[in-house]
Amino acid sequence: MQFRRRWAVAFAALALVLAVAAGCGAPAADRAKVDNLVVNVIDVGQGDAILIRTPGQVTLVDSGDTPARDKLVAYLKKQGVTTIDNFIVTHPHADHIGGAAAILDNFAVRKVFDSGQTATSAIYRQYLAAVKKKDIPFALLAAGQEIDIGGGALKVLNPPATPFTGEAAVNNNSIVARLTYGNFAMLLAADAEQDAEAAMVKRYGAGLKSQVLKSGHHGSRTSSSAAFLKAVDPEAAVISLGKDNEYHHPHPSLLKRYADRKLKVYRTDTDGTVTVSSDGKTYKIAKER
Ligand SMILES: [Zn+2]
Repeated sequence: MQFRRRWAVAFAALALVLAVAAGCGAPAADRAKVDNLVVNVIDVGQGDAILIRTPGQVTLVDSGDTPARDKLVAYLKKQGVTTIDNFIVTHPHADHIGGAAAILDNFAVRKVFDSGQTATSAIYRQYLAAVKKKDIPFALLAAGQEIDIGGGALKVLNPPATPFTGEAAVNNNSIVARLTYGNFAMLLAADAEQDAEAAMVKRYGAGLKSQVLKSGHHGSRTSSSAAFLKAVDPEAAVISLGKDNEYHHPHPSLLKRYADRKLKVYRTDTDGTVTVSSDGKTYKIAKER
């Protein structure tokens, strides 16, 4: 019996050592795992970069501008991200694709979703070259499609089948999606402006309704039009923008439209990274500072 008891003690000790080792040496990917939905509207200065985690997958919407790329990569690594299941590039402006090549270099990206709009810039070419070099599946998104994000979904609302033309075409053709997780919804408006908003209101109406809105186009006056806000009917808005940005975003008239609807307003220039989390029933919003 003495012999058996000693073995039992030895086994218990070994099991404890293994359990502790597993805890300490857990791969970084485990830290990216979440029990519910976590959305980080990351403070990347003037630009957009939104990390969406569900229990099943990691999704990144846009990658900020080039000066913020190291900060973005460091943020994602700190969150424990090693693999990005879905990398969505809403449109090819610098403040959305500036960090794209760095993202593709530093993380295992499984799929890239693009608006299909091209650009002549060096950062656009670097982004496409990195996708090709790594042979990453590349798909275009348009209104009507839906992406499974592992326990939640992104319903694509824009661009329409026939793209917008004219001065603001690139913004108006950006990928807009309604993120759903249980009964929670967050509308990710990319840089969509009035024309895209009007088309979405016409096509989806009350189907746009979401508790939280990621403001279109960094709080420009040409986005978050009254009819669009009425249809989305959000309780809170998150504006992604740089401190003292050269565009003077957010525009006072937009802030007034938000105030008129009594929205809670969060902004990355003053609040830092804004985190929206939900269990599919309720949600909460936290600020970095
Ligand atoms: Zn932008």
